[in-house]
Amino acid sequence: MTESYVIIGDGIAGSSAAETLREEAPESDITVVTDEGEALYNRILIKEFAKGKLPEAPVSIHEENWYAERDIGLSLNTHVTDVDPDAHEIHTHSGETIEYDKLLVASGGTPSKLPVDNADADGIHHFWTFQDARAINEDASEADTGVVVGAGLLGIDLAAICGAQNVDAHYLMRGECWWRYALSPEGAEIMHEGMRGVGVTPVFGSGVDEFVTDDDGHVEATIDSNGERYESDFVGIAIGLDFNIEYLQDTDLETDDGILVDEYMQTNLDDVYAAGDLTRFYDTILGEHAQNGSWGSAKEQGQVAAKNMAADDAAEAFRWVSSYSITHFEFPFLSFGHPTLGDDYVEKKYNDHEWRRITFKDGKVVGGVLIGDLAPQTTFKQLMREERDVSGQKERLLEEEVDIEMLDAPAQEQ
Ligand SMILES: Cc1cc2nc3c(=O)[nH]c(=O)nc-3n(C[C@H](O)[C@H](O)[C@H](O)COP(=O)(O)OP(=O)(O)OC[C@H]3O[C@@H](n4cnc5c(N)ncnc54)[C@H](O)[C@@H]3O)c2cc1C
Repeated sequence: MTESYVIIGDGIAGSSAAETLREEAPESDITVVTDEGEALYNRILIKEFAKGKLPEAPVSIHEENWYAERDIGLSLNTHVTDVDPDAHEIHTHSGETIEYDKLLVASGGTPSKLPVDNADADGIHHFWTFQDARAINEDASEADTGVVVGAGLLGIDLAAICGAQNVDAHYLMRGECWWRYALSPEGAEIMHEGMRGVGVTPVFGSGVDEFVTDDDGHVEATIDSNGERYESDFVGIAIGLDFNIEYLQDTDLETDDGILVDEYMQTNLDDVYAAGDLTRFYDTILGEHAQNGSWGSAKEQGQVAAKNMAADDAAEAFRWVSSYSITHFEFPFLSFGHPTLGDDYVEKKYNDHEWRRITFKDGKVVGGVLIGDLAPQTTFKQLMREERDVSGQKERLLEEEVDIEMLDAPAQEQ
């Protein structure tokens, strides 16, 4: 019997799942449904496009004929409205019903909105899609003043876009530093200097009270939580993601700030798998459920889900050390694993452009942040993969040159 696989979402998780399914199950029917109007593109690169530094072409990954050549059905501009897990079918906005034997949910997230006055005014942007990037590029290139909100990995992209587009911008942050859950003020100060270097001024202990608009409904200023007014004919907001799972709300799907899946990407619903940003997956290295919003992790989850779907079995477990790098400034930045989790950390500043934090859980490395010198990442990731106990050697991981050979060998199993 020919198996039919349906994938919701043509981001990197959904698209890599489709590709793997075609390899693992050559005779199967595969359909990918996405509400975007274009096939897979490189979401990591859209920031470079929005900066005005890259043309459209290199951002695209798949032309539509990529799917046809592999006999994969692709439905663009198709929004899934609900899923009936008992009937094994999904329904779309146009009233179409698509049946499946196995379903992969890979619909990612949508940027959260700020619940303040005029948050939907013209000139206020959220950043997730290529379409968003086109609008940001257009508006930022004409703006003189800007405000960025959201002290995380996407907010800093918006700040860098302002810098590249010569927008005189203020970057409003709630706490005392950028990404305060993963960096101390000392490490973050290097990032702040990077922002200042491209013409973006960080503002701490701030937030948004309201946006002021002109007579045409275009944003002209931001009033922060301290009553300060920042002129801003461009605003970029990146305060988090709402997962795209409304169409599953009438099912018994288990969620916990994301769709709960085991290490095989299986949900609690029969024949329903999930992959990518919207999962809370069982992390076999961490030994608990965790979340990870990164390209490499989403791609790997899509592939692992596909292998298990095709095998109709728990054929392969997801086991991955993620990393996320930023190259906006003169020094590189990389976070890996789970830098905001764990029960202990060590950190050190080496010079004005170099800083390191390593986080631990039960004496094992579970994540970290490297600024300036990324070379030690190989060692730290290997320690993570090996789940090596480094309880007595944490400080040694801060030595400038870290070599796995110089660390005590892992304890032998008795
Ligand atoms: C600007 C930006 C910069 C980034 N930079 C980096 C980086 O440097 N490094 C890194 O590792 N990661 C980066 N990321 C994160 C990375 O891109 C994501 O983790 C990854 O793309 C998630 O892939 P996904 O397939 O899970 O979800 P998505 O890429 O979000 O794909 C989900 C798809 O499902 C569609 N969809 C949603 N709901 C429905 C529905 N009801 N019906 C049909 N289709 C639906 C969506 O429109 C979307 O096309 C960045 C993200 C952004 C936005």
